[in-house]
Amino acid sequence: MSLESEFEELRAHFRETAANRLAEMARCITTLLADPRDAGCFNTLSRHFHGLAGLGTTYGFPRISELADVGEAETIELLRHHAAPDVLRIHHWGALIEQMSAAIAGEAVPFGPAVIAQGASPRRQFTVLLVEDDPALRAWLTPLIESEGMDVRACGSRAAALEAIAGAVPDAIVTDLRLPDGDGSDVIAALRGTPGGEEALALAISALEGFDAKVDAIHAGADAHFEKPIDAQALLRRLTMARDRKSQPPERVLVVEDDPLQSAVVQAILAEAGYEVQICAEPGALEEAVGRVSPHLILMDVNFPGGINGYDLVRYLRQSDRFATLPVIFVTTEREVAKTRRAGGDDHLIKPVDPQALLMSVASRLERARVVRSLIDHDGLTGALTHTAFRARLEQAISRAASPVLALVDLDYFKRVNDTWGHRAGDRVLSTFGQFLRQNVRYTDAVGRWGGEEFGLLLEDSTLGEACTLLERLLRQFTAVEHIADGRRFTVAFSAGLAAPESEDVEAWIEAADRRLYEAKDAGRGRIVVG
Ligand code: GH3
Ligand code: MG
Ligand code: MG
Ligand code: MG
Repeated sequence: MSLESEFEELRAHFRETAANRLAEMARCITTLLADPRDAGCFNTLSRHFHGLAGLGTTYGFPRISELADVGEAETIELLRHHAAPDVLRIHHWGALIEQMSAAIAGEAVPFGPAVIAQGASPRRQFTVLLVEDDPALRAWLTPLIESEGMDVRACGSRAAALEAIAGAVPDAIVTDLRLPDGDGSDVIAALRGTPGGEEALALAISALEGFDAKVDAIHAGADAHFEKPIDAQALLRRLTMARDRKSQPPERVLVVEDDPLQSAVVQAILAEAGYEVQICAEPGALEEAVGRVSPHLILMDVNFPGGINGYDLVRYLRQSDRFATLPVIFVTTEREVAKTRRAGGDDHLIKPVDPQALLMSVASRLERARVVRSLIDHDGLTGALTHTAFRARLEQAISRAASPVLALVDLDYFKRVNDTWGHRAGDRVLSTFGQFLRQNVRYTDAVGRWGGEEFGLLLEDSTLGEACTLLERLLRQFTAVEHIADGRRFTVAFSAGLAAPESEDVEAWIEAADRRLYEAKDAGRGRIVVG
C-alpha cells in the first residue's frame, strides 16, 4: 500500500475515533454541569483534549488541534491546583467541543508533499558531495574518499552545492563552512530540508577561527565538525560508518505510545524511511518489549492513562546497565516541554509530529549513538577494535560469515623496543601498526587489539592460502617501515598464526591460531604459520 493511501485509511479511522471521543466529552460536560466535582469526568475530559490536540493537525484537522489545545491548557491548569471548574468554564468547553465536532465533519487539509515524499529509495553506491573551494584540499580529499569505494562529486561554491543537492540527494556531504559565495551551513540546511536528506551524514570543515560558523553548522544539522588541518582518518571513519550502516539490517525503533492513531502515523513515516518499527501501547509491558525488540532507539510518549509518565518509565529502564545508553526521544505536547528539563539530555518532539523533524531527530540520535558505540568499541592508541568488541566479531563470524580466517599477530622483541627506544617510541610503533593493519584490509574485515602488542585480524570470505599470502605481504611491508626515535631509525617485525574454524567453537578457533603463533615464535619469529 502506498504511504498516501495508508494515510487516507488512518485519517478515516481518526475521523471515527475523534467522533467517539467528542461524544464522550459531550457526556462529560453534561455530568460536570450537574456535579463540577466529578473528578473522573474531569480527568477524562482533559485526557481527550490532550489526545485531540496532539493528533488533529497530523490528520489534516489543524482547527481541532487549536481548539483542543485551549481546552487542554485550561483543564490542566485547574487539575494542577486541584480546583473544580465553574459553570461558565464548563459551558465554554462545551462550545469548544461543538466547534470540534463541526470541524471533524468538514473538509480535511490534504496531505502535503512533505508528508508523502519521504521515502528514500535504496541506493547502490554511496555518494559523497565534497564542497570545498581550496583546490589543494579538494585534490587531497577526493582520492582519499574514493579509495574507500565511494562516489565523490566535488564542487567549490555554495551555489554549485545547492544545485547538486537539488539534483540528487547525496548519502553524505563534506562542506567547508566558509565558501566564496556564502556559508557552508546553508548547504547543510538545504540538505536537511530536502526529502531524503534528513538521514544523510553532514560533516563540516573549517579553519580554526570561526566559532560562530561552527555553531551555525550545528544549528543547521551538521553531524560533526573537523578543523583544518583535517584529521583525514577520523573523517574517513565517519564516512565509512555511515556507508557500512547501509549494508546493515534496518535499525529498530520502539514506539511507546498508548494512542493507536498517533503510533500509526509515526510507524508509517519511520517504516517508509527504512526503519523497523515496533509498538508498545501498554507502559506496563515496556520492559518486556525492550527485551524482545532490543531497539536502537525509543520514541516515548510522555502522558499515559492512569497518570503514568514517560520520564519515570525511562528513568526506571536506565537503572539497568544494558539500557543506560539507549537513546530516547520524548514525544509530547508543547505544554509539557517545560517540565522536560527533568529528563536531562534527551531530545523532544512536539505533537503534532512533523515528519521531517521526526526523521531528522531519529537519524541524528542514532548517528550519535553509533559514534558513542564506536568510541567504546575502539582502542584509543591503535584505532583497532577492543578485545571485547573483536571477540564479539569472531562470535558473529563463526556462525554467519562464509569461510572466515583468524590471524593472531604479535610484534617481535617488543620489550626490547621499549627498553632501547623508550615507552613513548613503543607507543608510536603500536599506533603505526594499528593504522597499517586497518589500511591494508578490506572494510568487511576486522582488526582488533588482542592485548598489549598482540593483534587479531579477522578476514572474511578467505581461504587459509589467501590469508597467508596477505599476511606475508604485510610482513614484508611493515618490516620495511622505518621508525624513528632520538633521530635514529629502527625496524620492527611480527609473527602470526592463522586458523580457520573447524566447528562452531570460538575458543578452539582462537587456540588453534594462538598455537601457530607460538610455533612461529619458536621457529625464529618474523614469519607466518598456517596449519
Ligand atoms: P616476543 O617476540 O616473544 O613477542 O617478545 P616481546 O618482547 O615482544 O614479548 P613480551 O611479551 O616479552 O613483551 C611484550 C612487551 O610489550 C612488554 C610490554 O611492556 C610491551 N607493551 C605492551 N603493551 C604496550 C603498550 O601499550 N605500549 C608500549 N610501549 N609497550 C607495550
Ligand atoms: Mg499518551
Ligand atoms: Mg611480542
Ligand atoms: Mg605478546
